[in-house]
Formats: sequence, structure tokens, C-alpha cells
Amino acid sequence: MHTIPREKLPAFLEYLSKGGELIVPAKKDGLSFFKSYEKGDRLYLEKGNTDYSAKQFFFPYKEVLYHYDKEGNFENAQEPRERILFGIRPCDLHALAVTDMFFSDEPADPHYLERRKRTTLIAIDCTTPGKNCFCDSLGKRDPIGHDLLLIPEKKFFYASAGSEKGKKLLEDSGLFEKTSESPSIKKIPCKKKASPVDSSRVKWEKWGKLCFACAACTSVCPTCTCFDIEDEIQLKGGKTERQRTWASCFTKDFTSVAGGHSFRSARPEMLKQFVNHKFPYFKEKFGVTMCVGCGRCVTACTAKIDISKMISGK
Ligand code: SF4
Ligand code: SF4
Repeated sequence: MHTIPREKLPAFLEYLSKGGELIVPAKKDGLSFFKSYEKGDRLYLEKGNTDYSAKQFFFPYKEVLYHYDKEGNFENAQEPRERILFGIRPCDLHALAVTDMFFSDEPADPHYLERRKRTTLIAIDCTTPGKNCFCDSLGKRDPIGHDLLLIPEKKFFYASAGSEKGKKLLEDSGLFEKTSESPSIKKIPCKKKASPVDSSRVKWEKWGKLCFACAACTSVCPTCTCFDIEDEIQLKGGKTERQRTWASCFTKDFTSVAGGHSFRSARPEMLKQFVNHKFPYFKEKFGVTMCVGCGRCVTACTAKIDISKMISGK
């Protein structure tokens, strides 16, 4: 185990920023999110997680995947680079593990996987959950898959490496000291609890009637990975662009087919799909729930729909 005093954090960030693009949690205009680090940034390291996860750094809202021409020559539009994601919380580490499963499933997604491979994860353990968190109930509170874990104490952080990359950071930065002590971290339990019941016992009509189908939940959810693909033809003869954009199961066109029919246009059905995908469907295919209990959809919901209550049959 190692330690780093809190006042050395800016020096650590400067050190990290020399190793590639550094992504940090920040807050602006009342919203917290991840952004590319700029010197002097004030980090958002308060209780709970950020309003927006770091999903867009692995699976951007909109991206060009390829360019191709009439002869069928494909050209990758991506420029992979080394990145360090600092300050990710345990629930979001679990969310990344879930999205890894989705994008590694055949046919695997090279764009996502390349970004994951080139990103070092420096996590901060979570002592104080936000008001809508319920990760405890889903067993997603303990960190997984990080390269380095910082465990907060009042005046310093304990640090433990989770990979060779993490060990190298501890040794090479010159900012950490070895200690024989170990953390006595007290984790405040999440106030919200969830006890998922069988899908047939969820009150779909009750909750579905409240839903506005605004899709705020799917935009903030760190594990929503549905997308749409469009080809943009360049009329002047340039190469066609294949673009990918986030999609949401709360839009009618998500299940629209030729002729205008939409297979799921009623809101209770959309909500049922959103929740069943997170729980029984994903669990059946991958063995874990897709939902990590981060509570972001509860905070963002314009209709005050609470997924922790809904899945518990309330
Ligand atoms: S469904 Fe809600 S609580 Fe679950 S991971 Fe998505 S945003 Fe978080
Ligand atoms: S945020 Fe709430 S109201 Fe909007 S689509 Fe999701 S569940 Fe429905």
C-alpha cells in the first residue's frame, strides 16, 4: 500500500497529463461530468458520482467509424491515443465492465475496444453515496478493473495498484510513499435499497403512465449502449462516412419498420423494455445485471420515476 498527501494531487495530475489525454471529473453550472483536463481545473471529488458518466469517452454520442468508396475501400476514421481516466467511481467501473461485455460480444466492436485498451483507469473509492445511489443492493459497490485505486482519507489518499500500469504510476511518479498501514475506510451505506422481483411482478402500467418518453434516463445511463448507424453519402464524390449515434428505446423510431409501423409505441412498453434489458435479458446472456445502481436515471427523470422502487415491485 502507498499514500499520497492531498496537496500533491495537482502535481500528480500534471504528471499524468504528460502520459496522454487526461480525463477528470469537474463541475460547471451545477452539473458534474468528465472532461479533458486543463491546468487549474477544480476536480469534482464530492460525495456520490458525477451527473454524467465517462461513457462518451469510450462510446461517443456521435462518431464517424469509417470512410469508404465505391470500390469498397474502407478507411478507419479513428485515431486511437493513450488516455488516463482519473476519478472514476466503483459503480462506473462496474458499468465499464458491463459495456466491455456488450462490445466484446461477437461481432466485437474494434472502436470501443481500442479506446478501452488505451485508457488507464485511476479510480477513487466511494465513501459517501449520492441520494439516489443503490449500488449496494446490486453488489456493485466494490471497485473492479482499475489500474490504480485511491482511497480517500481526510488529509491523504491510500493508493493501491490493480495492474502493472498502476504499479508503474506509483513507482515512476515519485509522489507516493510506501506505508505498512492499511485503510480503515468506512463506507456509508446507500439510503436507497432495491430488491429486484420477477418482471411479472413489476407494475409496468403504474410507472409507464407517468413516463414522458423523454429519454433523459438512457442518455445519462452509463450502461445504455444502443446505437444507430447512418451512411452519409458525399454527393461531390468524396468517400461515404459511416456514422454512429446513440439511440434510445424511448423513441418511436427505435422500433419503427418500413410502412410506418412501430412495434413499441406505448410508454409502458418502452419502460418495460428499458428495465427488462437491464435486468433479466442481460443477466440471462451475460450473467450480471446491466444496471449498476448508479441512480443517475432517478436523478434525471422528468417524471420522478424511481427504478429502485419499480424493480422492487412497488
Ligand atoms: S438504469 Fe439507472 S441506476 Fe441503473 S445503471 Fe442505468 S442510470 Fe444507473
Ligand atoms: S427519464 Fe423518466 S420520463 Fe424520461 S423516458 Fe426515462 S423513465 Fe420516462
